[in-house]
Formats: sequence, structure tokens, C-alpha cells
Amino acid sequence: MINRKVSSDYDKFISKVEKIFSVTPADVKKIIDNFHQEMRRGLAGRGCSLKMIPSFVDRPAGSEAGRCLALDLGGTNSRVLAARLDGKGNARVFAVSKFVVSAALMRGAGEALFDFIAGCVREFLAKNRISLRKKYQLAFTFSFPVEQTGLAAGKLIIWTKGFSASGVEGKDVVRLLDDALWRSGLKNIEVVALANDTVGTLVTKSYSDRSCDMGVILGTGTNACYVEKVSNILKMKSRGNRRSMIINMEWGNFSKLRRCHVDRELDRASGNPGRQYLEKMVSGMYLGEITRRVVFHMISKGVFLGEGFERAYSEEYSFRTEDMSLVAAGGMPQRDLSADERKALKKICDIVSLRSARIAGGAIAAVLLWMDKELRKRHTVAIDGSLFEKYPGFEKNIKNVFRELFGRRSKKIKLEMAKDGSGAGAAVIAAWAQINHISTRRLHA
Ligand code: ADP
Ligand code: MG
Repeated sequence: MINRKVSSDYDKFISKVEKIFSVTPADVKKIIDNFHQEMRRGLAGRGCSLKMIPSFVDRPAGSEAGRCLALDLGGTNSRVLAARLDGKGNARVFAVSKFVVSAALMRGAGEALFDFIAGCVREFLAKNRISLRKKYQLAFTFSFPVEQTGLAAGKLIIWTKGFSASGVEGKDVVRLLDDALWRSGLKNIEVVALANDTVGTLVTKSYSDRSCDMGVILGTGTNACYVEKVSNILKMKSRGNRRSMIINMEWGNFSKLRRCHVDRELDRASGNPGRQYLEKMVSGMYLGEITRRVVFHMISKGVFLGEGFERAYSEEYSFRTEDMSLVAAGGMPQRDLSADERKALKKICDIVSLRSARIAGGAIAAVLLWMDKELRKRHTVAIDGSLFEKYPGFEKNIKNVFRELFGRRSKKIKLEMAKDGSGAGAAVIAAWAQINHISTRRLHA
């Protein structure tokens, strides 16, 4: 048994960290106000930290039917799948293959990345004995900020979540995928829809639940979308005759937050400094790294001896959010810590994850209040992502924010896991587009 004690400054240090990382009810109110300001600016096309991107998609009626292939390129888990919609609100995924995008592909040449993805589609078709001669429609879920110009057209604005493949930013990603499919001999596949994972998540859930009007991702990255009145989307020139449309907020880039020293350090050392401030405080890619940095500050101040920790986690991003989950659940990813040190590490994990959940809670509340000022209606929020799914107490911490804000009315908000909804959602979007005669042709070549 290791018997290192944390120093007597421990309590003082912890309460300081607690204070710095706290998101008080007053902070939550400020987050809500700032969100509303930025949403308004973003919808009007004025410069701000929220892109508020029109998705060209509305909620499905639930009666859409058909089959479709879908390709989901996200952060860590990417997949190819085939889905069948029965026209009664059930979207069934009947074949799925996962693939891992290596760090080399993430950061190499864009063409190699897209060739790899096309290869995954090819492998999927072979495995499931799907003919290369019959025509198939494919919906593409691409979970990065895209300036969408039509249902199946959109340019990557900027990479996030550790991706930096060259020659993709500023390009139409459907065109890049088309070209790669063509190169790999898959000439029978037509890409009919481009969607963001958060839009896919909302669409999948709302296919069966009419009160679903918001989608949230809490995984490697974080993002959200919601149903907006078209008349509020001031920046859209031709608004057509549709009444509502899903807006992809790209909220990971929301910047009006109280950040601390560690946030600034992490940002400076990141591949995208100055961007994605909310994502860097909330999402799974970063929580472990924030925790690691706080612990290293403790070690350097002699408050936490943790030589074992220092040795095991000297590299950036080596302490992962999965490790935090383990610690939070009472386990330990690594053994040579004393009882005191374990307790200290758990405390830091609790503090960092609590801040994340409370910011997420405030942000969700902001969007619900934007749609429904008095919270009169019921709202289902569809959520996808391993952070939300697996981090102990994360959901409870979000709900506490709702309770503080709305008291008993908070029961009107339902948080529902929509696991891997993003992939199936793209298939629903493809079917929705066909029924509503939305042209999937590009507006811009
Ligand atoms: P993606 O966001 O890439 O589509 P996921 O939703 O599965 O995929 O999220 C993966 C991310 O979730 C990981 O990068 C990690 O940060 C986080 N994560 C994975 N497992 C856990 C866990 N057990 N506890 C907390 N966070 C986790
Ligand atoms: Mg995902």
C-alpha cells in the first residue's frame, strides 16, 4: 500500500479549483443571454461565434419509407450502414460496419482520406453482398462545420476534432466523396444527402417522436441543432415556401464563456487555437486533457505528489475522458497512487466533468427557451455521444441545471439517448427529400 499523503495545502487548492471551474446559477443565466445574442447575430449573418447553418432539412413526418445506404464520418467512430424505413416511424439499421480513421489519415492528404472512406463503402458492399450494378442512394453524415449550399452540397469551413487533412477546407465534401467513389469503381452509388451528425440525431428521433425539436452531440466533439422558423433565418436569401428548417448551430465554437488559465493553455497547445472554446470545455476529446493539466499544476505546487501519475501521463492527451469515467466510478486506470492521491484525482475529475455538464445544460436550456420562451410545450432533446452515454452522473448534472432554472416545469424536458442516430438520420433525410421532391442536385458545381 502506498502511503503518500497529499500536502496540507490540499483543501485550499481544491476549493480554489472548485471556484475557478464553478458554473453558478448566475453564470448559467449569463450563458443563456449570451447564447440568445449570438444566435440572433448568427441567423442574421452577422459575425459571431455561432455559425447557425441552415441544413435545408425539416423534421420528417414519420411516413417516409425506403432503403438507403449511409456513411457517417465523425470523430472516433465512423461507419457505413444500410437502413430501412417502414413509414411508421421505425428506422431500422440492418447492416453496419465500423472503421477507424487513423491519425495519419486524419492529418494526411485529403484525397487519401476520401479514398480510404470509399474503400470502406466498397468493403461494406462486398461483405453484405450488395451488387455493384444496381443503383444505390447514399446519405453522407459529415460531422464538421460545413457551409451547406443545398441538400447534397456543402463546403468544409474548417476542420475540428484533431482532423487537418489537406485540400479539403473550402471544398465541397460531397464532390470529394463522389470523386473517390468513382475512383474506387463504385459508379452505382449516388450521394443524395449531406448531413451533420447533430441534424441526423434530431431527424432520427423526431421520425418517431413529434415533440423532438433539438439534437445534441456530446462525444468526441459537441454540437447542437434545433427547429427554427424560416422567417427567423434572416440571412437566407431564398426562403421558399417552407415554414421551418433545422439549424445546425455549430455551438462548439461558442466563445462567450468564462475561461481559466488551464483553458487558455490547452487552447494554445491545440491544433486550432482561438477556436471551439465551448467544445474545449465540454467535449470528450478535451476533458481528460484539462484534468491532466490541473493535476500537473497540483504536482508542480507540491500539493499532489502523484509521481506515478506524472510518469504515466507525461504526454498530452494521454489521460483520456474514458479514464476519468473509470475514476469517477471508483476505479483507477493505473495503480501506483496512494489512497489520498486517488481521492484527489477523483475530485478533479468530478470538478472538470461537472463544469462540462453544467455548460451543456445551460446551452440546451438557452436553445429550448429560444424556441419556447415560457417553456409551455414538451421538448424531447435527442442526444448522441459516448460522453453523455457513459460518464457517470453526466445526465443528472445536466438535469440539475434544468431544475434550478425551471423548477417542476423541468419535467417537460426529456433527454433521450439516440445512439448512433446520426447514421440512420441521414437515411431518413434521403427519404424525406424524395417524398418532398427536394432536389438533391448541387446549387453550385
Ligand atoms: P464520435 O463523437 O466520435 O462520433 P462517440 O460518440 O462514441 O463518437 O464519442 C467518443 C468520445 O467519447 C471519445 O473520444 C471520448 O472522448 C468519449 N468517451 C468514450 N468513452 C467514454 C467513457 N466511457 N466515458 C466518458 N467519455 C467517453
Ligand atoms: Mg458520433
